[in-house]
Amino acid sequence: MTNLLDFDHDGLAAWCEQRGEKRFRATQLFRWIHQRGARDFGAMSDLAKSLREKLALQAVVQPLPVASEQVSADGTTKWLFDVGAGDAVETVFIPEDDRGTLCISSQAGCAVGCRFCSTGHQGFSRNLTTGEILAQLWFAEHTLRQRLKLKDGERAITNVVMMGMGEPLQNYAALLPALRVMLDDHGYGLSRRRVTVSTSGVVPMMERLREDCPVALAVSLHAPDDALRDDLVPLNRKYPLAELMDACRGYLDRAPRDFITFEYCMLDGVNDGDAHADRLIALVQGRHEATRAGGPVPCKLNLIPFNPFPASGLHRSPAARVTAFARRLQDAGIVTTVRKTRGDDIAAACGQLAGEVQDRTRVAERRGRAAIPIRAVDAASLRAPR
Ligand code: SAH
Ligand code: SF4
Repeated sequence: MTNLLDFDHDGLAAWCEQRGEKRFRATQLFRWIHQRGARDFGAMSDLAKSLREKLALQAVVQPLPVASEQVSADGTTKWLFDVGAGDAVETVFIPEDDRGTLCISSQAGCAVGCRFCSTGHQGFSRNLTTGEILAQLWFAEHTLRQRLKLKDGERAITNVVMMGMGEPLQNYAALLPALRVMLDDHGYGLSRRRVTVSTSGVVPMMERLREDCPVALAVSLHAPDDALRDDLVPLNRKYPLAELMDACRGYLDRAPRDFITFEYCMLDGVNDGDAHADRLIALVQGRHEATRAGGPVPCKLNLIPFNPFPASGLHRSPAARVTAFARRLQDAGIVTTVRKTRGDDIAAACGQLAGEVQDRTRVAERRGRAAIPIRAVDAASLRAPR
């Protein structure tokens, strides 16, 4: 059986054409699935009976089993989806007055192993398929439409962020068709600026995404210098700041917005001093050794107060420190926001998504062995007195 959630519009058209069906039939089918949330081929009334019969024999629209659902006091909803073999991934819906954002997972676990991230601590099991990435959106959109009693044509989800579990750019082959379905007018019809890929900095894949499907880009920065970033985001050892900043600048040529969003998780005593802020300003303004050659990187800074989880050994920066850090960036002319923490009562906030992961590569174990006490790495020269 073929899972039709695995296809973008062109893929579905090709699959239909192989079965002697015209492209417009594929478009009808695609609309039934993604716009109307249908999975019963028998009910797709405008499809020829012969096609419906073929579909029933050869295809499915495969949802993910829901292992649990939690709703936060602030309306944030988190689903745990069972993806088989002991793995489960999480998806979070964040309602706001003017939008509904869905935070989607791209992998069961993550191999990058960032210090401050609960997914990273769990290690890596496997990539999700396109169908598993899209099943999260398909389920959330159509479940919420019913639950919120939306009228025809109203959308529950207006924005998608690839900020759940996993590093989306380490699962590029599955990500790309999923993004195309999100953007497709016959699919979810989201504009490129309402779909955000967040990456810890997989430089070659940032270049691919720019060519193939330049949606909004968020880059998880977290440190203004290679030494500290090497430790917090181990991928930095492969793609250091100078290369990352070049890739960001390159991405802007085709990006739907004229800035990159940098995410910066505020860790008490680790990356939150005035000296860190000053290095960060130098970095994005092109006065840092990593950017002196290439020049400034137009950006917005999004500060995320660290969301603690057991075993991280890290602490959230005090609110006054976050404010002072933000002020310092703003005074230097950098647009800076502090992310509101949503759904932390149900562990649905950034970096708290843990799901369940069979750590097949034992990254977590290897990382454990390599652990250096984080405060020791934090170069004294970078620390401003507080
Ligand atoms: N792998 C991608 C996307 C998923 S993480 C990436 O790293 O960008 C989404 C965002 O949450 C990233 O900016 C990540 O750095 C941040 N994050 C991870 N753990 C966090 C934590 N414990 N508290 C706050 N933010 C966290
Ligand atoms: Fe992976 Fe992103 Fe978590 Fe780092 S922050 S471990 S890249 S999910």
